[in-house]
Amino acid sequence: MSRERARRNGLRAIFISETAPSPARKADAMTTPRRKKIYEGKAKILYEGPEPGTLIQYFKDDATAFNAEKRAILEGKGVINNRISEFVMTKLAAIGVQNHFIRRLSLREQLIKEVEIIPLEVVCRNIAAGSMSQRFGLPEGQPLPRSIIEFYFKDDKLSDPMVAEEHITAFNWASTQEIDDMMATTLRVNDYMSGLFGGVGITLVDFKLEFGRIWENDFSRVILADEISPDSCRLWDANTNEKMDKDRFRRDMGDVIESYTEVARRLGIMKEMPTVIQGGID
Ligand code: C5P
Repeated sequence: MSRERARRNGLRAIFISETAPSPARKADAMTTPRRKKIYEGKAKILYEGPEPGTLIQYFKDDATAFNAEKRAILEGKGVINNRISEFVMTKLAAIGVQNHFIRRLSLREQLIKEVEIIPLEVVCRNIAAGSMSQRFGLPEGQPLPRSIIEFYFKDDKLSDPMVAEEHITAFNWASTQEIDDMMATTLRVNDYMSGLFGGVGITLVDFKLEFGRIWENDFSRVILADEISPDSCRLWDANTNEKMDKDRFRRDMGDVIESYTEVARRLGIMKEMPTVIQGGID
C-alpha cells in the first residue's frame, strides 16, 4: 500500500518500511541467530525450534485489521504482546489449562510446543461489541444473557466466515469431542481471565482463542495455542469503559501502544513505556 493510499485510509501509525528496521527490531536482530522460517502470519512468525516438537514464536510490531486492508507498524507492540501472552498462558497452565507456551526466549520470542493448528477461531463473548453488535443490532456494551461461544473458519481469502458445529464436523476441521474440549477450555479461560482482568480494573468483553493438536503415538489432544493479548481480546477500563485493545487501532482512536502498555502495567508486568520502545526491558 502506498503512503498516499494509507493516508487516505486514515492510517496514523508508523508505516511499514522494509528498509528501515526499528531500533527494537535492530536490537533483536543482533541477538537472533538465523533460523528456518516455518510460517509467517500477520502479527507473528514461527521459526524452527531448538528441539523436535518445538517452535519459536516471534511477535512482530505489525498491526492489521479488516483482513489486512488496514496495516501499520506499532512500535513495541510485539514486545508487549509477547509479555502479556506469556503472563496469561503461564497463569492458565498453573490452573491446568494446557497450552503451547514453554518459556520466553527474548523480547519478542517465545519457545512453544509445535501443534497441528485446528483451522478455527474460537470467540467467546460476555458483552456485545464488534461483529456481534453489528450482526444482531445490539448496542455495544450491552451485557449478554450468558457467555456465548462462536466458531469462525480461519481463511483470509474468505474473511474468516462464522461456522456452525455442523460445518466443523462435516468438513473434518475438528471432531465432536474436540469441539466439546475446546468449548470447555474456552469457558474455563473466560472464567479465569474475567477474574484476572477484573482484579486490575479491566472488563473482559470478548476474546479469540486458537487451538492445536499434540500427537502422542496415535492419539491427539487439543491444547491452547497462538497468543492471548490486547490484539485478541476486547479489554475495557472497568470504570470508564475506555477501550484498551486493538479496537483503538481498528477505529483510529490513537494511543494504541499506550493502552497495551497500561494493560501490561496493571497486570504488574511492565513499568514504563519508553523502556519498551528502546527494547531495554530484559
Ligand atoms: O470482530 P469480532 O467482534 O468478531 O471479534 C471478537 C473478538 O475476537 C475480539 O476480541 C477480536 O479482537 C478477536 N478477533 C481476533 N482475530 C480475528 C477476529 C477477531 O483476535 N481474526
